[in-house]
Amino acid sequence: MRYRSTSREAPLTSLRGAVLRGLAPDGGLYMPAEIARHSPEELEEFRRLPFTEVCFRVAKPFATPDVPEEVLWQVVSEAINFPVNLVSLSPGLHILELFHGPTLAFKDFGARFMARLMGYFVRGETRPLTVLVATSGDTGSAVAHGFLGVPGIRVVILYPSKRISEAQEKQFTTLGENITALEVAGTFDDCQRLVKQAFSDVELNKRAFLTSANSINIGRLLPQMFYHVAAYRQLPVASVPLIVSVPSGNFGNLTAGIFAKRIGLPVAQFVASTNANDVVPEYLRSGEFHPRAATPTYSNAMDVGNPNNFPRLLDLCRNRLEYLQKEIWGHRATDEETLQEMKAIHDRFGYIADPHTAVGILGWEAYKLEHPEPAQGLVLATAHPAKFADVVRKAIGIAPPLPDRLAAYLKRDKLSLPMSSVYDDFRQFLVAH
Ligand SMILES: *Cc1c(COP(=O)(O)O)cnc(C)c1O
Repeated sequence: MRYRSTSREAPLTSLRGAVLRGLAPDGGLYMPAEIARHSPEELEEFRRLPFTEVCFRVAKPFATPDVPEEVLWQVVSEAINFPVNLVSLSPGLHILELFHGPTLAFKDFGARFMARLMGYFVRGETRPLTVLVATSGDTGSAVAHGFLGVPGIRVVILYPSKRISEAQEKQFTTLGENITALEVAGTFDDCQRLVKQAFSDVELNKRAFLTSANSINIGRLLPQMFYHVAAYRQLPVASVPLIVSVPSGNFGNLTAGIFAKRIGLPVAQFVASTNANDVVPEYLRSGEFHPRAATPTYSNAMDVGNPNNFPRLLDLCRNRLEYLQKEIWGHRATDEETLQEMKAIHDRFGYIADPHTAVGILGWEAYKLEHPEPAQGLVLATAHPAKFADVVRKAIGIAPPLPDRLAAYLKRDKLSLPMSSVYDDFRQFLVAH
């Protein structure tokens, strides 16, 4: 598979080029140059084969010829080593739990897969690859765990001191090995500025081999097709059209859903479920795209005012609003509605949904109200409720059970190094280490 830029000016590149670069040189985002459909017979086989085998078959056309089959097999089997559970709350409402990985959120799929691909692509390099990540909480832990112990790669995570929860902080500052966490005396914007400055520092880039691991990297999107196939395998066989509701922020997850549909999975429509940061639902409604500063909400991993995968959505729909509207229906939920929904779901089904998942369920329910014809809803559950224990307690009056994994991290010592928000200090650190 070759990869092209959404801006269509940069030359085609290989998967290796696209993954190591992240952003195309023309400023666009990398897209697979063509997406091949699997036959209905092969999709039927997908229901019966072991899941690793299915992921391997889904990934193969995207990874050939850069990644030999035995390497791809190893990448897939090591990266996706946790279950995807489908919980049917009712015959028409299914929850796809994507939070059983090491950091209890769906970002584990993308980060673990991409880390291993990068590890393969940099083998034989004499200089270690340094992955720089600025995080406001969740991305840091998924990326850190994804790269933990991957040879030839070190990860430097910048996070704003005292502005993230202890549970978030302990998940990526206690790891050691090839993971360094810098506790920046400043805001998330300061962290992002330091990282951007490092990438545009020509001198520094001659001395160090730097890359980024944010969600514009195509290496994070490809494995997000896997769990759509996992849903297809577990859903009761039915001719009822499937509506997939995706709690969305940067829209990487929804982009991967459309990739999954293009390889042949039967999805009638996607629902872009957002919190108050509803730039995309607003675009679907009005045809006007107005990026703006993010508004803080309870579903904070979706507090994005300028979704960075939007160019990919447009590209997949040939830059036409009416095609986008055919593919995606938009819905926005307020914090108040989110809390009420968490309570309603708990009261009715005894199920504890995290605030992001609740936004997704609200999107499906709103869709159903406007579209009375028969359909079944699949809601992607993007985070474990224990990651948002405070909001859960507020909504349903009790705290969700703390998974052992999270409890173990809370007991460990924080190993982060203090860092000022002055670029020269950060630069000096990168050069010295
Ligand atoms: C990142 C994240 C999202 C948003 O995913 P996008 O791909 O950015 O749209 C939703 N929920 C949780 C819990 C997340 O961590």
